[in-house]
Amino acid sequence: MKTPTMLDTVRSLLGVPACAIPLSVCRPAKAYLLDRAGILSSGTAILFAVPYLVTADVSDPQRNLSLYAVPRDYHGYMKEVEATVLPSLGQSFPDHTFALFADHSPILEVDAAARAGLGVLGLNGLLITPDYGSFVFLGEMVTDADYTTVTGEPTPSFPAEPPLCEGCGACLTACPMECRDGDRTRCLSALTQKKGDLTAEETDAVLRGGLVWGCDVCQLACPHNRRVIRDGHDTSIPYFTDDRLTRLDSRILSAMPDEAFSSRAYAWRGRKVIARNISLFEERPQEDHPAERRSPS
Ligand code: SF4
Ligand code: SF4
Repeated sequence: MKTPTMLDTVRSLLGVPACAIPLSVCRPAKAYLLDRAGILSSGTAILFAVPYLVTADVSDPQRNLSLYAVPRDYHGYMKEVEATVLPSLGQSFPDHTFALFADHSPILEVDAAARAGLGVLGLNGLLITPDYGSFVFLGEMVTDADYTTVTGEPTPSFPAEPPLCEGCGACLTACPMECRDGDRTRCLSALTQKKGDLTAEETDAVLRGGLVWGCDVCQLACPHNRRVIRDGHDTSIPYFTDDRLTRLDSRILSAMPDEAFSSRAYAWRGRKVIARNISLFEERPQEDHPAERRSPS
């Protein structure tokens, strides 16, 4: 029987789609992180896509959180992977060094993932995977081993640019903030994360969006994601299926212990920001701003 390669081992330990690409062809983001991990640019990145969606949440009429914020924060999942998968890899491949990155990464993750073959780059800037659409979190296992050692295959030529979606434009047309050409300065998701006071215009936009955290509109407009939802391609990872919270109000928030709060995606801006957003909805006159969002028809 063929000995499993590093890539096989990562796929089997994580149970999610994964693809490899030499670091030398990746676009750098925070390159100093590689030095810090003791990994040279002759090494390899194994990109993986972690599905997080439970499709029933899409049509939950009570939901007022963006779909990615319904489960616990994925950084906690990555910490679990770091504590379990990294030591296993070290045992299986003791001659090599490994490091895990997610979000805070030495390379441009979406670009590298698409060029490695995990999916295509959508016009909305998100990676679209075949099985889970863009309802994935990205991470990468980086190693000093070269591509051939990682995969057991000769190094192919990787595309200089990421493969793109078909460009139907539904995501751009649906965007309530008219975000275009990668300009996300007005993005509702960013607005709900903004500290301090919101202007009257910003407040109105958040209320129209209908969510106290994030925005799903461009994701839900995408035909790839609509297929994922229609066909019920749910995550099966317990970290994301357990302990989901689709709705947050001031009572739930104030009763939430700090430890539980810190496990949520909205914790990174502190309680004040999410509490402010909730109060916008709870203090508005009832007849204002019928929620415009979200369920795909
Ligand atoms: S998340 Fe919402 S506001 Fe931001 S780009 Fe997508 S549709 Fe526009
Ligand atoms: S909605 Fe269309 S243009 Fe936008 S990401 Fe999806 S396939 Fe691409």
